[in-house]
Amino acid sequence: MLKEVEGIIISETNYGETSKIINILTKNGIVGVMAKGSKSLKSPLRSYTQKFTYGKFYLYYKENKLSILKSVDIINDLVNIKTNIELIGYMSYISDLTYQIMKQNNNEDLYNIYINAILKINDGLNAKIICNIVELKILDYLGVGINFNTCIKCGNTKNIVTINPDEGGYICKNCYTNEKIFDEKTIKMLRMYYLVDISSISDLKISDEVINNINNFINIYYERYTGLYLKSKKFLDTITT
Ligand SMILES: [Zn+2]
Repeated sequence: MLKEVEGIIISETNYGETSKIINILTKNGIVGVMAKGSKSLKSPLRSYTQKFTYGKFYLYYKENKLSILKSVDIINDLVNIKTNIELIGYMSYISDLTYQIMKQNNNEDLYNIYINAILKINDGLNAKIICNIVELKILDYLGVGINFNTCIKCGNTKNIVTINPDEGGYICKNCYTNEKIFDEKTIKMLRMYYLVDISSISDLKISDEVINNINNFINIYYERYTGLYLKSKKFLDTITT
């Protein structure tokens, strides 16, 4: 049976002398596919089976067996990302993060967040911001989402004075002790990041200070609450400032 799946290749493993197995991140989860002969120089599949190929993959589908790749139609060559080491770093990390959840739960919403983020980065939008938006949205899927409505200590919805990554949310005037103060713009923008539909973003006008405050907040929150230690994140940290 011929089957069509849309997605991005997130990893490849050599199989024998000339073949490889590719893993495609799709809206239905991770699909493993045998790409026969794809390492051979003459293979028409050779250039379509590299990591981060985004396309429609046509497979000979086999129930309970590895499907065989027949052909690929490229949807977007993602050339702006693939020619920029920093953007490759972002794509690797975002892919890795998405994979951590998709390997256990197929989730179409998460797939859409992932694809839209990659396309926006390829279109030239600020990769740090897009990456932070994905990180914030993914927290819900990791089961450690941030409550953007009330003080985490007393449930108060008014007089929020800061947000604290160690305690995990808003802190109101009555509960405030000596936490670091994040300014109002940062707090507001953090919530916007969480709520925004990535596909609708056309430009981003945010000050460097707010961008960096949010990035710091998310880094601390991730270390504290997610238990994720991804090599791709460490790599990204070494190539970005
Ligand atoms: Zn409170």
